[in-house]
Amino acid sequence: MNIDAALIEGIVKGVMRKIDESENNSAGSCGIFADMNDAIEAAAAAQRRYLDCSMADRARFVEAIRGTVLNEENLKFMSLSTIEETGMGNYEHKLVKNRLAATKTPGIEDLTTDAITGDDGLTIVEYSPFGVIGAITPTTNPTETIICNSIGMLAAGNTVVFSPHPRAKKVSLWLVSELNRALAAAGAPANLIVTVSEPSIENTNLMMAHPKVRMLVATGGPAIVKTVLSSGKKAIGAGAGNPPAVVDESANIEKAAKDIVDGCSFDNNLPCIAEKEVIVVDSAADYLIFNMKKNGAFEVKDPAVIERLVGLVTKEGKSPKTEFVGKSAKYILEKAGVEAPEDTRVIIMEAREEHPFVQVELMMPILPIVRADNVNEAIEMAVRVEHGNRHTAMMHSRNVDSLTKMAKLIQTTIFVKNGPSYAGIGVGGMGHTTFTIAGPTGEGLTSAKTFARRRRCVLVGGMDIR
Ligand code: NAD
Repeated sequence: MNIDAALIEGIVKGVMRKIDESENNSAGSCGIFADMNDAIEAAAAAQRRYLDCSMADRARFVEAIRGTVLNEENLKFMSLSTIEETGMGNYEHKLVKNRLAATKTPGIEDLTTDAITGDDGLTIVEYSPFGVIGAITPTTNPTETIICNSIGMLAAGNTVVFSPHPRAKKVSLWLVSELNRALAAAGAPANLIVTVSEPSIENTNLMMAHPKVRMLVATGGPAIVKTVLSSGKKAIGAGAGNPPAVVDESANIEKAAKDIVDGCSFDNNLPCIAEKEVIVVDSAADYLIFNMKKNGAFEVKDPAVIERLVGLVTKEGKSPKTEFVGKSAKYILEKAGVEAPEDTRVIIMEAREEHPFVQVELMMPILPIVRADNVNEAIEMAVRVEHGNRHTAMMHSRNVDSLTKMAKLIQTTIFVKNGPSYAGIGVGGMGHTTFTIAGPTGEGLTSAKTFARRRRCVLVGGMDIR
């Protein structure tokens, strides 16, 4: 972290004061309710009032959300307090991610209308709200997900009940209350965005079962995605990934090495899109590793140290230990008793395909590198280790045939060619951003139109001006 101590202290005091204020609020003020049923009823009543608002009103409310997040003081303390509360991530990168969510999440412009005209009149097909949406948010991007879901869901005319991860409770509640203040100042109906003072699995279950919640959006691991898909309601699942980066002999190896280290180390590897393993054609491997080391990668060669790392950061090689998720490379190495340079960004090691670091979604800057005999073998291995999540993959190559082959076979929602993973969510790559990437249910990079229903309105006769 690279900010001065006085600033941190000031920010922390501000965070704690504002969080205390929101916790002391009387029931329902600032969108925070003691009881989940009350929260949902309030969101349902708000959605009815929201129907009376114009599109210009909606655009103004979206601007109020963007403005609140982009306020420098808010931006700094939500980024810092997320790290304080969850123990995960990198301050500078949290700033980037929160700013990104506020600036590049589409608003009402996403809701385009289709028109069909002819002898029988005019038919329009528009995006209409679902009503009340229940949104479940992760620890890894707690504020980013609330920001982009709020913008998209409100732009589409919905209200939203958030069920944040209990380990990101304080910052999530603070953000919800801050957004409510801004929406009130912009003249919005109260309770467009609500949550509960004690987020829990029980409250999430209550929310999922409530008849007034018409759509569920889960951003998280496989368990919660499966749960919402079994709910009997319209559900969007944005689930786990294990993104491979494939490098072949035709790639610009120096650039590929830098892109991979940049992507993998971003927010200490928390993003679900971040590079989790590298598969490189044998003839390019040594030069790739050499260049990764020039860009802040620290190579661990001793098999005993690699084994120690497996024991340290995983639960028997099957899943990551929470206390190491989102920690820096330097921190992890220190805990493993390894001295490394101050500027270490990523821990690399050569591994075989079966190694737990290749197979498990670690969400920490440990990056195994697997050699393949040729590009076809590399692509096939990438498909296997992505585990059919259909989430994200990268390829560094200048061979159009190979790029096309991998794109077709891997079937990921995001496929980044010759860039770091975060280019796939609009950082240095074209396109809008989201922190809810719906691979399992196929909506892809969600935006306002994802949170809307298609409705047809038919005017019989007339209105055809051709
Ligand atoms: P998590 O699955 O532990 O928690 C996500 C949310 O689901 C939390 O709010 C949690 O309280 C809730 N939850 C989990 N299991 C539940 C259950 N059985 N019943 C009710 N609620 C439940 O995930 P996390 O550790 O917070 O986030 C990391 C995971 O999320 C990774 O797998 C990552 O890839 C994934 N993720 C995916 C996306 C995406 O857009 N596809 C974005 C961010 C994170």
